[in-house]
Amino acid sequence: MNIDDHAEELASDLGVDKAEVKENLQNLVEYSVPVEEAKRSLRRKYGDEGGSSSGGPTAVDIADIGPDSGNVTVTAKVLTAGQRSIRYQGDDHVIREGELADETGTISYTAWEDFGLEAGDTATIGNASVREWEGNPELNFGESSTVSKAEDFDVPYEVGGDRALADLSPGDRGRNVEAKVTEVEERTIDGRDGETEILSGVLGDESARLPFTDWDPHAEITEGASIRAEDVYVREFRGVPSVNVSEFSTVTELDREVEVGGPTRLSIREAVERGGAYDVELVGNVIEVRDGSGLIQRCPECGRVVQKGQCRQHGDVDGEDDLRVKAILDDGTDTVTAVLDRDLTEEVYGGGIEDARQQARDAMDQEVVADTISEKLVGSEYRVRGHLSVDEYGANLETIEFAASDDDPAERARAFLQEVEA
Ligand SMILES: [Zn+2]
Repeated sequence: MNIDDHAEELASDLGVDKAEVKENLQNLVEYSVPVEEAKRSLRRKYGDEGGSSSGGPTAVDIADIGPDSGNVTVTAKVLTAGQRSIRYQGDDHVIREGELADETGTISYTAWEDFGLEAGDTATIGNASVREWEGNPELNFGESSTVSKAEDFDVPYEVGGDRALADLSPGDRGRNVEAKVTEVEERTIDGRDGETEILSGVLGDESARLPFTDWDPHAEITEGASIRAEDVYVREFRGVPSVNVSEFSTVTELDREVEVGGPTRLSIREAVERGGAYDVELVGNVIEVRDGSGLIQRCPECGRVVQKGQCRQHGDVDGEDDLRVKAILDDGTDTVTAVLDRDLTEEVYGGGIEDARQQARDAMDQEVVADTISEKLVGSEYRVRGHLSVDEYGANLETIEFAASDDDPAERARAFLQEVEA
């Protein structure tokens, strides 16, 4: 950029006369002030002059915004613009939210008024306040802010909200997805306005499958339908990203069928580092069958596992028999606990609950059931599919498939080495 370009950008950012800015800029540069420093000093100068006695907000690059930046002015391109209704101080309020970018970085925003911003617009947002949201700075603007169209410029980020399911993360807003509804059920919940009908289920595309909730049921969302859902947001649900469809989302049926891929194959370390993952496939050795496996008793009230007839919440209860396995799976990168429900446990045990009771009676010890399972599993390699959650209870995989691994060990060793060397 030459001086003229710099002056033009500054003038546009600051909303002042270009000729004046250019003269100031030229002076500074002639005194051997580096051009970026000269620009910063002019931003300070005009920012101060334009504001109140306490000093108005400074025009800043997005990369320089931190949680403590206070009030700022930014010129940015709108990457995404979603709508959401929230209850704030007792009132329902429609907010606009999404991501902004300039050449230096991106930042999330919440607009408390409708400034008519659409993805692809370029705007100068004056007097926005910076708040911290989950450890990151976020721009908030409303009645006391100004939003004006600015000259268009390119940013090295994707404009628009289209994403594959695998690329969604909790906190995303204004996203558009094309997916197949692989499971859906109607549910009645006790919402903030009393009983409400919602839909919940699973969406899938080539990249992943994710749970979803439709808070304002759309007729297009039926089992097996391939849909495009615009303006959805993403929350964390049981440790995995969950797609949220709202009254502001637009759902249309696609005239093509979306292919749904299989589970995402990850190393255990990758899966755990994601902080949770829906429908993943892990391959590892069972190194231990944990306490609380085999024949167990659950509280008839809450389903918790009871120990010596005591439920943690309901005290002395008459526990109901159940079968479960908690197996520690290790692939050399990390470990998870694969939790198998009664059906899967019956498969690995090779018998049902009556067989387990009989074995326990014969041995006069119900631990023999867990011992039998342990003898079968420990030391062998398994391919395990399920939903991983990572929380204060550790990394637990809610298992949906559990099968002996048919992997080529040499191929896996190569993959492992690659990861270690990466
Ligand atoms: Zn209980």
